[in-house]
Amino acid sequence: MAGRINDEDIALVRERARIDDVVSAHVTLKPAGGGSLKGLCPFHDEKTPSFQVTPARGFYYCFGCGEGGDAITFVQKISNLSFTEAVQQLADRTGVQLRITDDGGPRQEPGLRVRILEANAAAEEFYRRQLMGPAALAARQMLDGRGFDRAAAEHFGVGYAPRGGRELKNHLNRMGFKDAELVKAGLIREHGHDFFQGRVLWPIRDSGSAVLGFGARKLFDDDRMPAKYLNTPETPVYKKSHVLYGLDLARRNIGKKSQAVVVEGYTDVMAAHLSGVDTAVASCGTAFGDDHARLLQRLMGNQGAFSGEVVFTFDGDAAGQKAALKVFSGDQNFIAQTYVAIEPSGLDPCDLRLQHGEAAVRELVGRRVPLYRFVMENTLKSYDLDRVDGRLQALRAAAPLVTSIRDTSLVNGYLRELASLLGMDIDEVRAEVTRARRRQQHDPQRGRREEPAPEPVQEDRGHADQATPWPDPRDRLLGVERGTLKLMLQHPTLFDTAWNHVRPEDFSHPAYRGVFEAIQQVAWVPEHWAEQVRQATADPVVQQLEIALLVEPVLRTADEAYATAYASRLQLLGVEREIKDLKSRLQRTNPLEHEAEHKRLFSTLLELEVRRKQLQQASLGALE
Ligand code: ZN
Repeated sequence: MAGRINDEDIALVRERARIDDVVSAHVTLKPAGGGSLKGLCPFHDEKTPSFQVTPARGFYYCFGCGEGGDAITFVQKISNLSFTEAVQQLADRTGVQLRITDDGGPRQEPGLRVRILEANAAAEEFYRRQLMGPAALAARQMLDGRGFDRAAAEHFGVGYAPRGGRELKNHLNRMGFKDAELVKAGLIREHGHDFFQGRVLWPIRDSGSAVLGFGARKLFDDDRMPAKYLNTPETPVYKKSHVLYGLDLARRNIGKKSQAVVVEGYTDVMAAHLSGVDTAVASCGTAFGDDHARLLQRLMGNQGAFSGEVVFTFDGDAAGQKAALKVFSGDQNFIAQTYVAIEPSGLDPCDLRLQHGEAAVRELVGRRVPLYRFVMENTLKSYDLDRVDGRLQALRAAAPLVTSIRDTSLVNGYLRELASLLGMDIDEVRAEVTRARRRQQHDPQRGRREEPAPEPVQEDRGHADQATPWPDPRDRLLGVERGTLKLMLQHPTLFDTAWNHVRPEDFSHPAYRGVFEAIQQVAWVPEHWAEQVRQATADPVVQQLEIALLVEPVLRTADEAYATAYASRLQLLGVEREIKDLKSRLQRTNPLEHEAEHKRLFSTLLELEVRRKQLQQASLGALE
């Protein structure tokens, strides 16, 4: 499909897709008064609901993390789809027939992603059924040998790819999927053969349970593909650096427990979950990377700098230790929340469960140590700590590890730890760490590490690179600006056609001024009011703020008198600011030297004072 979706059709989708229905598929919503609904935010971890849905206006907004938008935005964010794909999915659900305008632009394939997801779902179903058939004996034996019965296989959606060569292709063709689509989905190869043949398969899903691809293990010696493990190649929906096996099962628990356990293989994820470690995930066919880390942090609701634990299970062998050290050289932010769980016997969670039972798997995770300590211990290992000079050398080697910790609240703990590992006095250790820090500051190569910790997310709501600052909703000085805009957005008909003569200058904060300027641009009391206001600005911060203000409750029952009083109060504050500026200028203007100017300023001041008294009178009702 090429071209652009007709605007009217998009509007129709917006109208028909009920935001509460769309959100309810992912979040449990409860009435919150005033026709609004509340639930736990799917985009950040929280214990008390701050995720609000206002069906009457078709918006959702999270007061915790600032995520907000309409049904289309929600589908985009939760399923990781493009705008066009989200519109298409909602159109399917609401029975809207989309018309596509050919704009002659670059060829887009808005339907492809959705089509691939559908093909993957059908393939998963097919593979699952094959696992129960007579041809899949070897697959069932392999699973059985690792301690997974039929119920476990079903729970994890394990399947079997038959050896025939074209069985999946033929099945999906019969269902209406074209070869070109199946090639793009990574399900068949260019020449029409099934991509996976004679293998056990695990469906790799996103957190919303859509099947993105598959991981497959070799079963037969005569397998034409040499690799023991084979994954779906990169497709429009499957990006190996962004997917984690088990995420669909672990997502909720990761959020609830603020913990994720990273294991190495598909059977390890199964063994961990069956043993009660229900936050286990594994990277698929690639090393755990920064994108995976960000994905987990998002699920753990990483609000401040460091919250939540990511536990890596490693073999006790050298390779495992190397892997742990590799994590250490990655994203600095991630390190303080990183733990390692080493199994001294060298058994992976799957074998551990098999040989020593489920409790042993839980104990492995229970034995986790902070990555810092693990790295420190490893660093100290190569020194002779029985000798004074050995201890000093070890201290010098380990000190840079402590200085690389950006969260100052953690530094003392690590100092104490290092001191006890070395058997040295903590003050001595602190002095050496301070010297190491000074050396680093003079070394431009390492300067990056000395940057102050990033601002808490709460402050900038993730809009750090935007020019417009995000106004603090608790700022009392800006309370009237916020209140007026809430009334204007939620109850526009309470104002007159000139917005009771409110002007952009009456708003001192640029974001609030931006919202008002957007409101001014929209024709008076139109249909789709909220949507039009949102489209009246290109500034994403202003758009986001509009949604917040559309959803945020108004404190009192709003009527016309209340709106009038509020607008007056806003203007009063604006006039008071003007008066203050004017007085300051008057003081700096010599009436003898600049007589005319002084006179003009003075008469303006008198006018403003009259206006101030009027507004004071009119704004009395707005005092809350
Ligand atoms: Zn949130």
